[in-house]
Amino acid sequence: MIDQQTIGKILDTADIVDVVSDYVTLKKRGVNYIGSCPFHNEKTPSFTVSPSKGICKCFGCGAGGNAVNFIMELENMSYPEALKQLARKYNIPIEEKELSDEEKKEKSKLESLRIITDFAGKYFNNALLNSEEGIAIGLSYFKEREVYRTTIDKFQLGYCSNKGAEFTENAKKNGYKEELLTELGLTKKGQYSSFDFFKGRVIFPIHNLSGHVIAFGGRTLKKTKEIAKYFNSPESPLYHKSDVLYGIYQAKRSITSTDKCYLVEGYTDVTSLHQAGVENVVASSGTALTKGQIRLIKRFTQNITILYDGDAAGIKAALKGIDLVLEQGMNVKVVLLPEGEDPDSFSKSQSHTELLAYINDQEKDFIHFKSELLLKDAKQDPVKRAEATRSIIDSISKVSDTFLRTEYVRTTSIIMKIKEDILNNEVRKRIHKIIEKENKQQFNLPSTESNRQFSPSQSEVKDYNEFGKEYFNTIEVALLKYLIKYGNNNLEIENDIHEIEIKTVAQYIFDELMIDEINFTNEIYADIFLRAFEYHRVEGKISQDFFIKHTDPYISKVSSDIIVSKYELSQLYEKQDIVIEKEERKLSELIPNNIIIYKSRSLNKLSKEIERKIKLISNTKPLDIEKENELLIQQQKIKNAIQKMSGLINRVIP
Ligand code: ATP
Ligand code: MN
Repeated sequence: MIDQQTIGKILDTADIVDVVSDYVTLKKRGVNYIGSCPFHNEKTPSFTVSPSKGICKCFGCGAGGNAVNFIMELENMSYPEALKQLARKYNIPIEEKELSDEEKKEKSKLESLRIITDFAGKYFNNALLNSEEGIAIGLSYFKEREVYRTTIDKFQLGYCSNKGAEFTENAKKNGYKEELLTELGLTKKGQYSSFDFFKGRVIFPIHNLSGHVIAFGGRTLKKTKEIAKYFNSPESPLYHKSDVLYGIYQAKRSITSTDKCYLVEGYTDVTSLHQAGVENVVASSGTALTKGQIRLIKRFTQNITILYDGDAAGIKAALKGIDLVLEQGMNVKVVLLPEGEDPDSFSKSQSHTELLAYINDQEKDFIHFKSELLLKDAKQDPVKRAEATRSIIDSISKVSDTFLRTEYVRTTSIIMKIKEDILNNEVRKRIHKIIEKENKQQFNLPSTESNRQFSPSQSEVKDYNEFGKEYFNTIEVALLKYLIKYGNNNLEIENDIHEIEIKTVAQYIFDELMIDEINFTNEIYADIFLRAFEYHRVEGKISQDFFIKHTDPYISKVSSDIIVSKYELSQLYEKQDIVIEKEERKLSELIPNNIIIYKSRSLNKLSKEIERKIKLISNTKPLDIEKENELLIQQQKIKNAIQKMSGLINRVIP
């Protein structure tokens, strides 16, 4: 449990730009910052961070909120976990009381798994540096491979004892369940007893973007070919291989500052390049390169350089990588090392300067890389040359930027000596095919989590027949936005006797909705409305921060969504041509109109509901006359109110 005061302090200290920058490279755009959305795949950045409001929001997929909401969503963390992570980042001490057994049980499984991988990372690292066996075997192996002590610290390298189950025993002694150790792949069940999966191996922990250990790679120290050189953790709730890159945590700052990312194959390639001064490097370690991995890089840069061994396998992998990178709308270059060399071995055979010079000299854009490679093979054979051209065109058609595509076609035309028109034609054909395929896929796509949360289901919409639930949600969001964002602004209102009155936005909205006892239909919006009412009653004003920094993460999340919501009533009524930028200046017109429309629709809905009830009652026998009368009176009241409203409505929607 974290006390309220500390929560407040964390929320006040956490700087949204700073927090989001741990996961995405942000660029300043006016008063806001903008970057590639970490929650969904997008071609043009639409993830916006507002430092003044303290919130972030993706206009593509709807994700966002304050700093805590952001961490919760992105790291899949519970509220206290996200708070603790921020507290660590800002060195805010948290005084936590001992957890009772009951509370320990309640800890989410995910949280327990995270605690275990964290423990294991520290355990292996300590074993390498401080245990007799670790020093004698693990540390001397790293020394032999010229791995510096600073590298061991930076990557938290470790060693797992060869004794059998030393780690597992220790973990169990610390209270971690064997079941979870097994799920994480740290412990294996043998025929007679359990043992350490990584026993006798040096350990490369795999960190996520925020520096938590989520999985491990373990290299054997034996030279025999019979056993796999590397073991990797299995997929787990913490570790989705296809979305993880080895070294991303240690590389991200350098990727941002150099605006470029090197992609290599192995763990040791990453560590050795760091030692050679190249820090913007990640490895796909253990898996073939995936879309998810490229998208991870895309959060920090648009430029990837593939740095692989020049042997057949390396070339094949590079060719595959090129198309994957292009498909994500990024720029790709390739450096092939001399055959038989990987970045690790090569960097050790060269001085740092020589290494860097080689990389810079050999770096080729994908067209030059492919054409040189394929033409060398084809020589003057026309069939093979045509194949080479086709392969290059395949890659070019994956590029979504029209200008870039034109440039690539021009280059290809020169290299391959083929007219641009012909190339363009072929590219166009392929693009059509790709679009066709994408369209087919799109219709089968499930909606994203966040879409589902805030949009009504089909059956719910039907319940409201004429005006769907979505309609009410939209207008309730609009009203709450005025209330929270502009609640303290003054409005000039014309009252019943045509006098001009000055009221704050908050007072006006409260007065209007309370008179007719209208409650919001959406539960969470109704809740926020009441909280605003309470706050206003006590403090005499509205505070945006009260909502955005609310200690209930759901409230802060929904309120920040509301504040940046772009959907306006004016969009429901196209006749009302209201420019959103002018929102604040138009409040005196916007708000009363919205209120009138909302009230009239609410009354309509109410009247329909009563009508339905009356029908129901008149069909039941014996007839409940008293009840029917009561309903009829209510119906009349509402009809009168609607009558009164309709005059006003005509003024709003001519
Ligand atoms: P080292 O330099 O320690 O021999 P390496 O990185 O050069 O390691 P490679 O054989 O080139 O190793 O393999 C590249 C990467 O592929 C490794 O770093 C590892 O992530 C993965 N890998 C290699 N062999 C295996 C294996 N048997 N099982 C799982 N992953 C493997
Ligand atoms: Mn190697």
